[in-house]
Amino acid sequence: MRPQARRGLAKGKGAPTPAFPPLARPKPRVPKGVRILTLDIETSPLLSYHWRIFDENIGIDQIQEDTTILSFGAKWLDSRQLIYLDTGGRGVDKVRDDSILMQPLWNLLHQADVIVMQNGQAFDRRTINARLAIHGYSPPSPYKVVDTHTHGRQAFRFTSNKLEWQARVLTHTTKHKHSKFPGFELWLECMKDNPKAWAEMKKYNLQDVRACEAVYLKQRPWINHPNVSAYDKSLLTQCRTCGSANIEADGYETTRAAQYVRYRCNDCGAWSRGKQMLTPAETRKVKVA
Ligand SMILES: [Zn+2]
Repeated sequence: MRPQARRGLAKGKGAPTPAFPPLARPKPRVPKGVRILTLDIETSPLLSYHWRIFDENIGIDQIQEDTTILSFGAKWLDSRQLIYLDTGGRGVDKVRDDSILMQPLWNLLHQADVIVMQNGQAFDRRTINARLAIHGYSPPSPYKVVDTHTHGRQAFRFTSNKLEWQARVLTHTTKHKHSKFPGFELWLECMKDNPKAWAEMKKYNLQDVRACEAVYLKQRPWINHPNVSAYDKSLLTQCRTCGSANIEADGYETTRAAQYVRYRCNDCGAWSRGKQMLTPAETRKVKVA
């Protein structure tokens, strides 16, 4: 039987769709069966010989030290625990040796179904892949990336898509300012294996993880999120974004060929589309697309 939408008026049928009130307080529900990790890495700068400071092309023979991963911070969405590891505390000559970070990083990537990262698609994911490959690792199992920077740009026009700005306008979490070691000094001091700088780096890295997760949860109902209901083995009709079964039919979603029931999640506010095509086969035969 054709499912009945609660306020069953499709757009374009001559009658206005009744108001469907926005959710006052969307709930950041944690979906079941899917492991969602927020991850952030900090890297060491390249060290190179060069003659000028502006508009310079640096040849690969001029590079003295390659970029490496200095630290990473991570958090599973279904846990309060923060995960952090860095290359510090082993002397200056070991700071750029990120081999000790590789296995723990690989394990995290391997366990994750979805990884949330700020600028992760362009930077973190590829940097981690490069370091893993250099250290001789095989790829971890595939995961999906939710990039809060890219999604911030695609779905919204914020004044800035930087994590600091998005965290400021969307959440109560702010980016940690490394006040003891302002700007690049933090990296310089970490390169000297200064324990106070490493303590600051840990705070900074983990604060970015917290901010990134908070921004992600605000962005989530607005973005094209991986379908978490596909990971849940229950027979419930669930929100594709947060997995909640507290969803309500409201009108129809119309594609080029057919109509489907449209659902709004009463927990996170995201919209999902039913799988069942409502347009009968005989009707589809006479339609054009
Ligand atoms: Zn939802």
